[in-house]
Amino acid sequence: MNNENGELEIFFLPFMAHGHMIPITDMAKLFAARGVKTTMITTPLNAPLLSKTIQRTKPVGREINIKVIEFPRPNSGLPPQWCENLDSVPSQDLFMAFFETTSHLREPLEDLLGEHRPSCLVADMFFPWATEAAAKFGIPRLVFYVTSVISLCAWQCLKLYEPHKRVSSDFEPFLIPDLPGEIRLTRMQIPEFVRQNANNYMTQLLEKVIESEFKSYGVVVNTFYELEADYAEHYRKVLGIKAWYLGPVSLCNKDPEEKYHRGKEASINELDCLKWLDSKKPNSVVYVSFGSVAKFTASQLTEIALGLEASGHQFIWVVRRNKEENDKKDWVPEGFEQRVEDKGLIIRDWAPQMLILEHEAVGGFVTHCGWNSTLEAVSSGVPMVTWPISAEQFFNEKLVTQILKIGVGVGVRKWVRFVGDRVESKALEKAVRRVMEGEEAEEMRSRIRRLAQMAKSAVEEGGSSYCELSALIKKLSSLGF
Ligand code: UDP
Repeated sequence: MNNENGELEIFFLPFMAHGHMIPITDMAKLFAARGVKTTMITTPLNAPLLSKTIQRTKPVGREINIKVIEFPRPNSGLPPQWCENLDSVPSQDLFMAFFETTSHLREPLEDLLGEHRPSCLVADMFFPWATEAAAKFGIPRLVFYVTSVISLCAWQCLKLYEPHKRVSSDFEPFLIPDLPGEIRLTRMQIPEFVRQNANNYMTQLLEKVIESEFKSYGVVVNTFYELEADYAEHYRKVLGIKAWYLGPVSLCNKDPEEKYHRGKEASINELDCLKWLDSKKPNSVVYVSFGSVAKFTASQLTEIALGLEASGHQFIWVVRRNKEENDKKDWVPEGFEQRVEDKGLIIRDWAPQMLILEHEAVGGFVTHCGWNSTLEAVSSGVPMVTWPISAEQFFNEKLVTQILKIGVGVGVRKWVRFVGDRVESKALEKAVRRVMEGEEAEEMRSRIRRLAQMAKSAVEEGGSSYCELSALIKKLSSLGF
């Protein structure tokens, strides 16, 4: 389906959270690099973040446009003016209000679609209503997923078979039926909205998200076929969903400038960060980061500090707390900063993650298993210590530790939004040693390096993701009005 000038034109609508805006921008870059006219839609406070990233993009293919729509301000309790992405939501209590508020984007989106009539809308998973909004104008909608295919399959299987309702306790493991790989979880490790069967906004939203996979034109996923082949097949053939696997999208960033300027402004200068890493031996540094949403308590940060120190390994640790707490040092163990002065680099708030992971000094990654981070670790060939917190991260952990065997779990037992389950320093120390030392670590490293090579091949001309993107562009171009 082509626009009035006879060319394919795609609108991208990201959910307002860094873990969503970063990969969808990368995906838009991929389409633009193939000569497709692309436009990102966002709100006033998020626009500079996107334009900063886009401006750093080396001019390949076409320019990416940005269209700004107002962030809705219903009476939702969200602070006025400055709260336009999940990162700026000041407290957990307002988390749902934020999601609810974004559903009011439908009206301005429809105005924009009616005015410009693009050929296709790629809208984030959290906007299930976008399918109907686009359909009003005969525009096909693709669901943009920032999760793994294993988690998409697991969601569907949990919904279909409800195995979590047939166990006698919260900690009794159950098998997810019909899902390849014998995946077992406990009720405490699956998302709260599934576990509690609550009739709240989030549960209803996720119901609609799952339905929208079937109602939309199809689904685009940031993964590559070879990484999750069994699940990629299961999703298409058993669950019957039309899906294109186009990742890892982060690999479209070739230039250090592009890699440095992803998401928020980094809290460390690029050169200082690289200089620190350059002074370290290959595979000698552990990178510790829990994504853009999680915020630990002071006592959990203390445990992490103690665990890292006890592991004896050098580290880069990204510490995120609530804004007002960020500078308080109430979590720092006595004498810690002096003791680790030469060994550890603490970055407050935002690190240039891609640059760090790709540096040869980095030999392990303590991660919350957010899908972008997991895929970035795979693409960089860095084995993981898995510390899932919430969302779909426990499914990703299974892929990493059980299916691909490229990481070890720190032993998290409970899904807890934002702050996660408590993990003791001893558990972290042990897991860090396992990914950094000895034969097991070497085996994981060589497995993940092979996957990193496959990831690179997937996005190169002739690779699986490259070909899926070609097929998708061809399909969309052929739809016609
Ligand atoms: N990220 C980053 N610097 C940080 C924290 C996160 O560049 O200090 C990026 C990271 O590279 C990834 C995204 O933010 O692309 C986080 O997405 P993920 O799915 O891993 O986790 P989420 O933030 O959604 O929990």
